[in-house]
Amino acid sequence: MADLEAFRTEAREFLEKNAPKGLRGRGMAMNQEAADEEPGDVREARRQWTKLMADKGWTAPTWPTEYGGGGLSPREARVMQQEMAKLKLPPPLMGMGLSMIGPTLLVHGSEEQKNEYLPKIVTGEHRWCQGFSEPNAGSDLASLSCQAKLDESGDNYIVNGQKIWTSGAQFANWIFLLVRTDETTKHNGITFLLSPMKVPGLEIRPIRLISGNSPFCETFFENVKIPVKNVLGGVNNGWTVAKALLGFERSGMGGIAGGGGGQARRGSAALGGNRMVSLAKETVGVENGKVADGKIREDMTNVMLDQMALTLTQQRSAATAKSKGAPGPETSIFKIVASELGHRRDELMLRLRGTGGLGWEGGDTPEEDLMLTRSWLSAKATTIYGGTSEIQRNIVSKRVLRLPQPK
Ligand SMILES: Cc1cc2nc3c(=O)[nH]c(=O)nc-3n(C[C@H](O)[C@H](O)[C@H](O)COP(=O)(O)OP(=O)(O)OC[C@H]3O[C@@H](n4cnc5c(N)ncnc54)[C@H](O)[C@@H]3O)c2cc1C
Repeated sequence: MADLEAFRTEAREFLEKNAPKGLRGRGMAMNQEAADEEPGDVREARRQWTKLMADKGWTAPTWPTEYGGGGLSPREARVMQQEMAKLKLPPPLMGMGLSMIGPTLLVHGSEEQKNEYLPKIVTGEHRWCQGFSEPNAGSDLASLSCQAKLDESGDNYIVNGQKIWTSGAQFANWIFLLVRTDETTKHNGITFLLSPMKVPGLEIRPIRLISGNSPFCETFFENVKIPVKNVLGGVNNGWTVAKALLGFERSGMGGIAGGGGGQARRGSAALGGNRMVSLAKETVGVENGKVADGKIREDMTNVMLDQMALTLTQQRSAATAKSKGAPGPETSIFKIVASELGHRRDELMLRLRGTGGLGWEGGDTPEEDLMLTRSWLSAKATTIYGGTSEIQRNIVSKRVLRLPQPK
């Protein structure tokens, strides 16, 4: 424990001295499009912040140092994140590299693959996207049909097919994807591939939403050549690798067990209970040192207790995952609880904000409040991506509770 306190002091001093002051209290941009629109000095501060932390390996605090990570224990990583939160610093780096493919590479990657990919995730040089869903394979992902056939040399796969809802594909330079390598069997005929985005035959079409933004894309593969050495976890073993990756995605444990991005994906979760309490004090008022409204106090306490219980359960599961390699089907419980809890917290914060919570951009509305509104809206998707809540409940019933299944 004394060591942990010594580490806390070291982390605090390092962050206080070096973290760019202009980023404190700023939060993360909601997406790359928003990040690109930030003023030049903010973008530069973010670049410096990422570099500063990457140089220490603290963008991926718990990854081994030989792959560029920080080599911290999960407890040290939490202490570091607590010190960052005290200074209201945004995560130095986020994305599917840290929260999904990195932790999966640590479990299923060859030594060569770990050395090749992990350090570039730590620095942010590789930005990954996820090519799982297809027009006819969403919830029933294993029915995917994007096809990979070996070429004559036997050194490359030739990939043909389409992916959809590929988040951030237009900003990514690498993609991890599932392809069909055996037509005669369903789950055992899938292979997990890694590919650069800038290759002949790979085309991205952003899907434009009513907001004008394009958070995700259609991704087309026409005779795209992917070397056999880019198979992760073995030919026709892709479903096992995909389940591990989905475990990291669903648990948000990339941040606890593996990398650093998972939880940070959710804007208002990052703002945490402190913001909720200060917002309540501002808007409802204070009586005897407490938030004046008893019902609001009760609702806030319930959200904060549930958040605490979720975090502790995730930490327990992360410890088990460390010994087993990857998180198991219980992560579906986290996905359901975290997404529904996120909705409850966002609704409560918006209720507290009243008409002030209607801001979308610009004007006099503080950045934190704008983030709150945007986060409330974008969080609607959390019960869909990574597998819908219905699918998570099916998994819990089958693989956690082992209930009898319909014939
Ligand atoms: C914001 C966002 C980002 C995304 N990003 C990515 C990405 O980067 N990469 C990627 O590959 N995919 C991504 N997705 C796709 C996501 O994984 C799928 O949308 C999701 O798995 C559901 O598939 P679907 O949309 O085809 O819905 P469908 O599978 O068609 O489901 C429609 C409805 O039927 C229900 N349903 C289906 N089957 C069952 C069943 N057996 N039992 C009970 N109910 C069922 C579902 O719960 C849902 O309500 C993203 C989605 C969103 C919303």
